[in-house]
Amino acid sequence: MLTIPGTCWLCRMPLARPGWGVCSRCAKHLQPSPHCPQCGLPAAHSRLPCGRCLQKPPPWQRLVYISDYAAPLSGLVHRLKFQRQTALAASLARLLLINVLREKRTVGLPPVDSIISVPLHRRRAWRRGFNQSALLAKPLARWLGCRYEAHAISRIRETAVQHRLSARLRRRNLKNAFRLELPVRGLHIVIVDDVVTTGSTVAQIARLLLQHGAATVQVWCLCRTL
Ligand SMILES: [Zn+2]
Ligand SMILES: [Zn+2]
Repeated sequence: MLTIPGTCWLCRMPLARPGWGVCSRCAKHLQPSPHCPQCGLPAAHSRLPCGRCLQKPPPWQRLVYISDYAAPLSGLVHRLKFQRQTALAASLARLLLINVLREKRTVGLPPVDSIISVPLHRRRAWRRGFNQSALLAKPLARWLGCRYEAHAISRIRETAVQHRLSARLRRRNLKNAFRLELPVRGLHIVIVDDVVTTGSTVAQIARLLLQHGAATVQVWCLCRTL
């Protein structure tokens, strides 16, 4: 599907600000349903960690996303990842930023020193030609005035495609898949990913950051799905 520059990616109406990508009317419909601020899974209200997180919290402190994995957001994510419409990345990053600022006001978020993105293995990055998480992380860092560390984490093994595996196999698949390349002691870090499903990839990276002394770790993604 082709898009005329300066029109909304969703309703195709002309934009007040051409760089926005999605108009404010459509953006209003892109909001998550009530979810736990820590794990991001559905919950009765969005201010306090859910029962699951009180018992067994994920290794990160906060998870922020645009909306559930449903239309119209799922269509935009698909166009970015599989139809290679990389011009969409900045528009999606802006929608994510709107939700980050909203959560900062309502629930409160830790400060941010550095933003990192989930790395693809060299071979997969080469095949796809781009890393969608990096395309989202870069403008976010620029807008928030913090560092974007492109090479903070490297993927040392090419792992099997996660969504075909069970939760137990996913964890085994990811064991020792990443290596930390920069000191993170005392830093507040945000991991940016496109879609978080079971969360095992970002959990692995969050644990690695915390083991090396990171002060807090947040996960920001386009959507959280199961
Ligand atoms: Zn629109
Ligand atoms: Zn939770």
